[in-house]
Amino acid sequence: VILCKDLHIRLGSGASEVHVLKGIDLEVEAGESLSLVGPSGSGKSTLLMAMAGLERPDSGQVAIEGTDITRLGEDDLARIRGRSVGIVFQSFHLIPNMTALENVAVPLELAGEKDAFERAEAELADVGLGDRITHYPAELSGGEQQRVAIARALVPRPALLLADEPTGNLDGANGKMIADLLFEAGARRGTTLVLVTHDPGLAERSSRVVRLQSGRIVDDGARERPAAELAMSS
Ligand code: ATP
Ligand code: MG
Repeated sequence: VILCKDLHIRLGSGASEVHVLKGIDLEVEAGESLSLVGPSGSGKSTLLMAMAGLERPDSGQVAIEGTDITRLGEDDLARIRGRSVGIVFQSFHLIPNMTALENVAVPLELAGEKDAFERAEAELADVGLGDRITHYPAELSGGEQQRVAIARALVPRPALLLADEPTGNLDGANGKMIADLLFEAGARRGTTLVLVTHDPGLAERSSRVVRLQSGRIVDDGARERPAAELAMSS
């Protein structure tokens, strides 16, 4: 689903320039749920943004479903992102002057879909918010806002869902509910998940854990235990 090849990203300029990603090679296959872990500043969010096409690499490649997105223009990039990638952030990023229903309908309307509001309503019902569709973000709890954000990310049925610390601003019970929603979407629809997380609970439920340190992958669950070895040990 997504492939990163020798990805390098430098951010900032002059004295504050940082070589954030130093040659990332990573292939994520359909149906995987991958947690990106590692210390603060190791480059996790930057890698996720590169996978979303929101951060341009200085060199190397990012391919989504076989299309190299690193050389695409903004319009083509936006089209691929709209069709194939859903994104969820720690701080929800809902549009404050739109209701829950309007927020979730946005990606469908951008794609010119006719039944945007019906599908948005069904998606909100799926995340347990069928009775909150006319609420504005400020009238929703943190956990509810994150559920709206997940509904908005999932409503175009993306192949890939990227989430940056999706439970980071939530307490234990709400965090668990969000984790359930993400992994259920993964299992039920075959959505591939890439999560940045400091939450051991989320990492534990993932099919693969990749650790970053100072812009490099220092640990990759999949590489450590190749399929042949897994088959032999079971
Ligand atoms: P955290 O767990 O704290 O969220 P992270 O692993 O997500 O950390 P990133 O946000 O990817 O880390 O940042 C990686 C590094 O890049 C950090 O050291 C940060 O200071 C640096 N950085 C990020 N943006 C810029 C920028 N615009 N200019 C210079 N350096 C930057
Ligand atoms: Mg981060």
